[in-house]
Amino acid sequence: MITIKSQRELDLMKRAGEVVMRVHLRMRELVVPGVTTFELNRVAAEIIRQAGAIPSFLGFPCSMGGIDFPGVICTSCNEEVIHGLPGSRVLQEGDILSVDVGTILNGWHGDAARTYPVGRISGEAARLLSVTEESFNSGMEAAVPGNRIRDVSAAVQRRVEENGFSIVRDFVGHGIGTEMHEEPQIPNYVGRERGPRLAEGMTLAIEPMVNAGIWKVNVLSDKWTVVTADGALSAHHENTIAVTARGPVILTQIW
Ligand code: MG
Repeated sequence: MITIKSQRELDLMKRAGEVVMRVHLRMRELVVPGVTTFELNRVAAEIIRQAGAIPSFLGFPCSMGGIDFPGVICTSCNEEVIHGLPGSRVLQEGDILSVDVGTILNGWHGDAARTYPVGRISGEAARLLSVTEESFNSGMEAAVPGNRIRDVSAAVQRRVEENGFSIVRDFVGHGIGTEMHEEPQIPNYVGRERGPRLAEGMTLAIEPMVNAGIWKVNVLSDKWTVVTADGALSAHHENTIAVTARGPVILTQIW
């Protein structure tokens, strides 16, 4: 079932989204050569706690039977696509780091990911970051009442592929609200399903994962970290958005 949110509920989700973006504002400053992903996780935990919110990823059960997720944020570096575990890794000049943040405030979820450059990065890496963000924007623009989920998927996929990159197929975006993962699923590529029709008051986490090489991915032995099968770079961009009569509204945006 797809839940429809009232304006009041959208306002509550926006407040949860603001906590997510407060974390991202800080991450944008802290992601520099020499910092560990553990330190990023520590700061994120502090910001979320001070806001009176709950980190939604911490303790999330592993679908592959591994340990519950041990971090407050997911930190995925270079060839890591999503679900990287924060730890002792020291970021190096030229890396790219995707940070995914999820919080619950007053029972409502916010979820957003950004991929940050670490110091100076290659031209190709910079292009991957821009195209990933643009593909999110293309998908979001298609999220209007009357369109289908497949219109969102098609817009993302087109933008990625016309730039010579590939879109991950094994993981998808999702509805979001009082649960982190609600219906519908939002693939970033066009499959057989048209998907449901979009309507005012739906809230969606649209999250393209874009690979510089092939779209295939593997999961590491930690049963969490998803990596590109060919070792090429990958980037991730995600926002929680609302479908409204006036067009899509981002609930995780403060800049
Ligand atoms: Mg998500």
